Amino acid sequence: MGMPLDVCRLPLVGGHPALDLVNTVERGAPLDGEPPHDYLTDASALLRWTVRAGLISDAEADRAGAVWREDPAAAQAGLAAVRDLREGLHLVLLAAIQPSAGDPDGPGEGDPIAAGAALVRLHERWSGAAARATLVLDRGDPPRIRLTYGTVPAMLIPDRIAETALDVLRTADLTRVRRCPVPEGGCGWLFLDQSRNGSRRWCRMADCGTAAKSRRLTERRRAARAGTP
Ligand SMILES: [Zn+2]
Repeated sequence: MGMPLDVCRLPLVGGHPALDLVNTVERGAPLDGEPPHDYLTDASALLRWTVRAGLISDAEADRAGAVWREDPAAAQAGLAAVRDLREGLHLVLLAAIQPSAGDPDGPGEGDPIAAGAALVRLHERWSGAAARATLVLDRGDPPRIRLTYGTVPAMLIPDRIAETALDVLRTADLTRVRRCPVPEGGCGWLFLDQSRNGSRRWCRMADCGTAAKSRRLTERRRAARAGTP
């Protein structure tokens, strides 16, 4: 295994920034005793990822970064809030995944009780973000009222992430949430299947799909060798 990728080089395969956030942790089969790698290694990685995911502008990143450098405790609190939102989203989305088509009576992926508790926490975080949001009159043609999250620089990033978490839960077609299949060698990342017939199986065919195929081949060869005296 080489060095883990920088968070800014992670493939964005989720189809929505909220799912890409969930995919900033290794989600596959656990390695022996090792916690899964978290690509959001520190507040600076989070800041860079949030810009890359399009949730804040470069100017906003400058403002949030300046405040976080002045106040490392605020940066730590922001990172902790984002990780909490991320793990809550993961639990809720897992519970929304349908039993697979090949096994329609099988269990879904998630735990509905854990998902219910996660929704309570997500709501608390989003309520805080909404309390810090402002309504802004945009005098365009036609004029609009925009609800703008992230008016407090130290909380800008967690607030934008709370906004995008609520957005995916309330507006995405949750029947299209898929998990790159771990039992078949996939990585466990989540994605919205936007294929016309809803048949996408792998987060990235080029990586996980191909890796699973070659693993099956290796296992067959190993089994064949074990069978010979
Ligand atoms: Zn995958």
